[in-house]
Amino acid sequence: MINKAVNREPVIKTENLDSGYGKKVIVAGAEITVKPGEIVSLIGPNGAGKSTLLRTIAGQLEPIAGTVYIDGKERHGYASAEIARKQAVMLTERPPAERMSCMEVISLGRYPYTGRLGILSQDDRRIVQEAMELVHVSELAGSSYDQISDGQKQRVLLARAVCQEPEIMILDEPTAYLDIKHKLEFLDMLRDLTGKRGIAVIMSMHEPELAHLVSDRVICVSADGRVEMTGTSDEVFRDEIISRLYGLDDGRLRDLYTGFVRSLEGSAGC
Ligand code: ADP
Ligand code: MG
Repeated sequence: MINKAVNREPVIKTENLDSGYGKKVIVAGAEITVKPGEIVSLIGPNGAGKSTLLRTIAGQLEPIAGTVYIDGKERHGYASAEIARKQAVMLTERPPAERMSCMEVISLGRYPYTGRLGILSQDDRRIVQEAMELVHVSELAGSSYDQISDGQKQRVLLARAVCQEPEIMILDEPTAYLDIKHKLEFLDMLRDLTGKRGIAVIMSMHEPELAHLVSDRVICVSADGRVEMTGTSDEVFRDEIISRLYGLDDGRLRDLYTGFVRSLEGSAGC
């Protein structure tokens, strides 16, 4: 995949970052950079610490050691209103939005720009409309957020993130709950956003095959909480690396996985 961001300064950078809870380090010594226009994916087994790392980068957890830089400045040096215009965060928690329409939930993405009363200008409304079209949720605008499916909620929250017009998107398993059409639509949209708007994306991905499809670079977080390898998608996506990362050393599982990947490649070539 062509890396358009190669000559630009990273908009996210972590230096020797230990993330975890209390004093318990879950992911140690992470050195991560994400440049404008780049998609960087975290992959690795359940419980490796991908969400913990993303929460720390997003500022929801304090680093146990090390530093997170956003646009060259230490993360904790930003005022909250300033950071809200720079980064959109979509983690796995679903915010409660009782009795709100989907359009109202999406419009919350404009809050960093609207001032305390949250009154949308004409420009804000246009940006909300555009985000809804981009994420294909216009038909849900009037639906009650409480009464839509998990996959639809996922897309509504994504539209909210898009209309925040961020420089950075931090997404934890954004394709969870989506069916295959919406997964692919989502990845396509992400490419569009990074390509046209230069947004930097860091996200965790459950499915390594999808990470391979969309990422400029892939970061492997191992079961023992280390950043085991960072490379271009093609460098990381080798049978032996994925097998080791996910503990597929057992011959049967590995054969099944290899067969699965080959079948995907075969059908893509049809
Ligand atoms: P992943 O996203 O890679 O599946 P997580 O970051 O969710 O992994 O979890 C990594 C480890 O952190 C797990 O061992 C999990 O039990 C632990 N953990 C997650 N949340 C908390 C928490 N709030 N307090 C303490 N430990 C936690
Ligand atoms: Mg997780």
